[in-house]
Amino acid sequence: MPELPEVENARRCLLRASLPGRTFKGADIGWAKTVKRPDLEGFVLGLRDATVSDVLRKGKYILVPLRVEDGTPTLIIHLGMSGGLSVDDASSPEPPLVRHRFPLDDGRVMRFVDGRKFGKLWLVNDPAKVLPSLSPDPLGDGFTAEGLEASLAGRRAPIKALLLEQSVSAGIGNLYADESLYLAGIHPERAGADLGPEEIARLRESIFQALTEGVAVYDRARDELWPNAPRALTAWTIPRKEGESCPRCGAEMAVTRVRARTTWFCPAHQI
Ligand SMILES: [Zn+2]
Repeated sequence: MPELPEVENARRCLLRASLPGRTFKGADIGWAKTVKRPDLEGFVLGLRDATVSDVLRKGKYILVPLRVEDGTPTLIIHLGMSGGLSVDDASSPEPPLVRHRFPLDDGRVMRFVDGRKFGKLWLVNDPAKVLPSLSPDPLGDGFTAEGLEASLAGRRAPIKALLLEQSVSAGIGNLYADESLYLAGIHPERAGADLGPEEIARLRESIFQALTEGVAVYDRARDELWPNAPRALTAWTIPRKEGESCPRCGAEMAVTRVRARTTWFCPAHQI
């Protein structure tokens, strides 16, 4: 599932493809349920002659502020479980599983691949009305140890489960939650409220480190492979395989389930 590094990669791909400044000619929606707001017709009409001002990201959401004749709506894209975006010549062969097409004024088309159809699209005047509650971006200055401590206070749920809440750490999913706890040396089943200030500071650093490295892996690959930017790379260090030993301390890695999510950890140094 795309997590912050994948979504940031998708955003940087759209910027590199010079999407800002281009104008959508409409939208060809291949799976109507993807459009959450407004209705399908309103969505398609609303994108006609809409010029892209920028490409932003909030957590796992891509925000595309637009200029139209009478307003500044925002296209919001969520990649779901397996989604990806590209900007190609409209005449180029279409990759499999493209669900939606957004033709541009320069003969190219933004394509939304979404094999499992869990992607979501909105076109709204006020993104705050449809976005869930999101923590400050973990890559920005606003994501502090104090803020993290406040959102864990009183929470008895396992820290792994709490990290998956987008209001606690926006953009984190299953893989980077495991990686962050591994780097911080914190057991995934500890109750959030039981973490001390030092551990929370370490966790905040580890989240930053894991996501920064994830984004960097995509940056390097995008530079190397452009225009065929990769959409799914292994950008974490924690072994996720039965029988492998921990690169940090040599103990055998363990796997469990936390709230039904597969969770890898090192039983020796994550305490
Ligand atoms: Zn270890």
